[in-house]
Amino acid sequence: MVKIELYDTTLRDGSQGEGISYSATDKIRIAQELDKIGMHYIEGGWPGSNPKDMEFYLKMAKKSLKSSQLVAFGSTRRPNSRASEDNNLKALIKSQAKIVTIFGKTWDLHIKDVLKTTLDQNLEMIKDTVSFLISTGISVFYDAEHFFDAYNANPQYSLKCVLTAQEAGAKAIILCDTNGGTLTSEVSRVVREIRPRIDVILGIHCHNDAGLAVANSIAAVQAGCAMVQGTINGYGERCGNADLIPIIANLKIKLGLDCISDEKLKDLTHVSYFVSEISNMKERNDQPYVGQSAFAHKGGVHINAVMKNPKTYEHIDPVLVGNYRRMLVSELAGKTGILIRAKDLSLDLSKEDPKTKKILNLIQNLEHQGYHFEAAEASFELLMKKALKKYKKFFELEGFRVVIEKHSDKKITSEAIIKLKVKGIKEHTAAEGDGPINALDNALRKALKDFYPTLSKMHLSDFKVKILDEKAGTAAKVRVLIQSQDESDAWSTIGVSENIIEASWQALVDSVEYKLLKDKVNEA
Ligand SMILES: [Zn+2]
Repeated sequence: MVKIELYDTTLRDGSQGEGISYSATDKIRIAQELDKIGMHYIEGGWPGSNPKDMEFYLKMAKKSLKSSQLVAFGSTRRPNSRASEDNNLKALIKSQAKIVTIFGKTWDLHIKDVLKTTLDQNLEMIKDTVSFLISTGISVFYDAEHFFDAYNANPQYSLKCVLTAQEAGAKAIILCDTNGGTLTSEVSRVVREIRPRIDVILGIHCHNDAGLAVANSIAAVQAGCAMVQGTINGYGERCGNADLIPIIANLKIKLGLDCISDEKLKDLTHVSYFVSEISNMKERNDQPYVGQSAFAHKGGVHINAVMKNPKTYEHIDPVLVGNYRRMLVSELAGKTGILIRAKDLSLDLSKEDPKTKKILNLIQNLEHQGYHFEAAEASFELLMKKALKKYKKFFELEGFRVVIEKHSDKKITSEAIIKLKVKGIKEHTAAEGDGPINALDNALRKALKDFYPTLSKMHLSDFKVKILDEKAGTAAKVRVLIQSQDESDAWSTIGVSENIIEASWQALVDSVEYKLLKDKVNEA
């Protein structure tokens, strides 16, 4: 079976999408998830362009990935200089990535109007940059920027650019449709013409400006490319990059090409949701293969037919990609997902167990209200344990009050007053904070610290708020996602409400309870 290599650039090209901003921790979480699904290459950023990306690489250098290789991104050296003295290239070496993708110009228009240098100097830049990095022991992939436009304008010269990179030792040549405007037939033609000239791996990198990025990537593979670059959910600048989610599904299911295992393919839906949560982007219900509506049947005639034989209105079995069929008149979701997650938590559940049905109903109900447990594993674990009666409360809330005060020309202050019952004892505390949530967090921890001293070892590391129904304005529901960590772990929790304080409180309580539960298990 032909093997196609997948190259994810969500963390670099995808982060250019409007509304997306990743912290180094966000990037690490996404990278670990991509590793789990079996992505071959993960491009984490441009270490020469910002310190956040460098921080990511230095942190990742201490972690081990099971199936992915980390790649750093950078550009060819500046005109009329030396690669060995280029700061951008020095940063790539410092990042400790063993593979580097270098992008360079191939379009004469860009070389003359943007770089303002000669065509020969550009070839020299490619050669010098690639061979310098290789001399330091790094493997180099070469991204030929604007290749399709360049080949259209000046076929000889653009070909010369990629051949120069190949001769200098690049391990892969990637043809980029940077402006995203090339038609599919054109992509096929150009790849077929270039393919015989390239002895190394030939890759494709498409943008979606003409709405064709997925189609173009698939066409490029059919014409001979063996590496596909793209982003999860198609995030990226302007209209986005090629969406790896449908690309993976199409390569596997429609073309029978090997890229990830059948087992990992079942995680596709999960990965799509996970990345949309961390990216703080709305998941698209109509996203092919993985969207909530991708296998949702509404019309009476359709439902009737699907009940008789799903093939009548479904192009694949949703289970293959970890999605499930929904009948919009009566929600019949699959129990399999719940069973898999229960097994991960070593909880005993079987398909026939009435408790499974109960948990399923509970989760469906919560998801209907706007909860999404894909990126809130800790809340999910608590929910399962509570439903299975494997959980004992650590404290009980009697009530809280949050006071926000603002006097003209004075700073705004926030204070939280909280009443709890812990181990039969009533606690009444107050604390201030930077904003109401922080005050609430401080008051909760202050009330509990004498009973549970390990709470001083945890802190909140991230706080995300998403508005669930923008049309409803300020009365809309919000979903709060909190990330917490202690010396050894990081975990995420969720809360949903029309009131942001209430949503945050739910996520805060889950976060503290998860920590206490975790410590208790470790003690035992
Ligand atoms: Zn790009």
